[in-house]
Amino acid sequence: MKVLIAVKHAIDYNVKPNIHTETGQVELAQVKKAINPFDEISLEEAVRLKERGQVSEIIAVSIGGAEAKDSLRHAYALGADRALLIETDAQLQPLAVAKLLKAIVAREQPQLIFLGKQAVGEDYGQTGQMLAALLGVGVGTFASTIQLNDDHVVVTREVDKGTQTLSVKLPAVVTSDLRLNEPRFIKLPNLMMAKKKAIETISVSELDVDLVPRFSVISSREPQQKPGAIQLANVQELVAKLRQAEVLQ
Ligand code: AMP
Repeated sequence: MKVLIAVKHAIDYNVKPNIHTETGQVELAQVKKAINPFDEISLEEAVRLKERGQVSEIIAVSIGGAEAKDSLRHAYALGADRALLIETDAQLQPLAVAKLLKAIVAREQPQLIFLGKQAVGEDYGQTGQMLAALLGVGVGTFASTIQLNDDHVVVTREVDKGTQTLSVKLPAVVTSDLRLNEPRFIKLPNLMMAKKKAIETISVSELDVDLVPRFSVISSREPQQKPGAIQLANVQELVAKLRQAEVLQ
């Protein structure tokens, strides 16, 4: 069974994203980037399925500029068999990404398509659901465990008050959540080997897809800073503060 993994070269999760004061957009230029952590988790899951003999080929696909090759090399080092780069310097919205991925799915015919539940930086969390709809297939979002069978995948989803388990007919889209697995540590020889592997490059124009943006970001705001804690001298002071805040009568 072929598995396709969408791999975004996203803002490194160790870096605090900045929000541009005038545009309200997350600043993407000149920021350290790395493989989106949720996509690394998808890759790890696919590699585990391959090790269990349930998957024959893992294809990693990224959409972005030439620097996205770094994340594709990371995918090779983790165990991907092939890597494709749909090369573009445009900042694409989730619908455009989903359409491009649909074109690759049509070419490769994978049975299972993994995306991350969201990409660090813009955090849209839309692409997997849109891709499933465009393909006319089912989707298991926020997967915390999956079990692959001949014609369906059982996905346990992280929901607000616990978990929910779905059986989704193949081909299917799954979006990975943090608890799905912990990606393995990549050994140096694997990194070296990954550098030598070929990355197939496809130009966006070859895929003939409408990439026009469908929304604009009005604003983004950082979470409000919580006021720092203060130390009070005694219980009387505490009672006075609580009265002041109208917590006590
Ligand atoms: P988003 O909907 O933008 O939060 O992204 C969710 C998931 O879609 C990511 O975790 C990736 O799996 C996939 N994705 C989004 N943008 C790209 C991209 N430029 N290249 C490859 N995959 C992407």
